[in-house]
Amino acid sequence: TTKVKSTMENGRILVFVRLRPVAKKEREAGSRCCVRIVNKRDVYLTEFANENDYLRLKRLRGRHFTFDASFPDSTTQQEVYSKTTAGLVEAVLQGRNGSIFCYGATGAGKTYTMLGTMDNPGVMVLAIKDLFSKIQQRSFDENHTVHLSYLEVYNETVRDLLSPGRPLVLREDKQGIVAAGLTQYRAYSAEEVMALLQQGNLNRTTEPTRANETSSRSHAILQVVVEYQVKGASGNVVNRVGKLSLVDLAGSERAIATDQRTLRSLEGANINRSLLALSSCINALVEGKKHIPYRNSKLTQLLKDSLGGACNTVMIANISPSSLSFGETQNTLYWADRAK
Ligand code: ADP
Ligand code: MG
Repeated sequence: TTKVKSTMENGRILVFVRLRPVAKKEREAGSRCCVRIVNKRDVYLTEFANENDYLRLKRLRGRHFTFDASFPDSTTQQEVYSKTTAGLVEAVLQGRNGSIFCYGATGAGKTYTMLGTMDNPGVMVLAIKDLFSKIQQRSFDENHTVHLSYLEVYNETVRDLLSPGRPLVLREDKQGIVAAGLTQYRAYSAEEVMALLQQGNLNRTTEPTRANETSSRSHAILQVVVEYQVKGASGNVVNRVGKLSLVDLAGSERAIATDQRTLRSLEGANINRSLLALSSCINALVEGKKHIPYRNSKLTQLLKDSLGGACNTVMIANISPSSLSFGETQNTLYWADRAK
């Protein structure tokens, strides 16, 4: 048997930060840039950064964070994919599970990173492209099947984004927790996937007051399941299944607080139970706890087999450079720092 080689460290969560470019609206509002990324790793956050302050940042009232990598606003989609997700795709092709999340406030660039646009496809699409190209390089490529499911968790209700309709019920069976009746779309090539996902994204719940925007409270999960057979040591056929979950999380504003007191009061209000439950699971994993509270929300139940244990987990924290978003950016960076 060949030894499985992976670029990922087992069990650890890789944490990345991606800074998006300044938006026209932010520039017009006269906001300043409050984030600097140095050496592709270090993030400096300061309330009064400008070009002249840049070199003095360490002595200023700013905060400094370090991650596995930090992506400046010039980083391409392909670069983000290669550094964050290519290793997960590699692992899935060895029959292992993994997950990647984008975390951050509404407007910070989560959907751009995950789904992207037709011209600049994001991590979800690039992962599937890479997956098919890696399968084709295998001598036994005809023996692989790839199935996609795309679903939403909104207000603790699970919906199928590929076949919108009634809410799905979560059931526990031999394979773990499954959403009963969820579409499992058999994909044969990467080309068909972008349109499929864009269509699915249009099915995400919209906030009644902002009909054209997807709700900041909806989580979108793309699940990619790869299955193939290999010959075992004694000539028997072994089935291998790997599953990758790619998650565009709900906006973190209003739902997450940095201190314990506020966290509790928000939990009581149940603003976004799934996001809070995910944070609890990640903190428990990072602290090496035995009990991981997956049962507390729909999102964490759905991700139970893709998070922790032998799974590879990747987090991208998305942030805006604008001083208008200073508070949200600070919360996101603290949150990401705790996930390391
Ligand atoms: P979120 O999903 O976190 O609410 P979006 O991904 O919708 O945020 O991003 C908000 C806006 O900023 C969108 O118009 C998006 O196209 C743009 N944007 C986000 N990140 C980038 C980036 N890295 N490069 C260019 N435009 C971006
Ligand atoms: Mg979004």
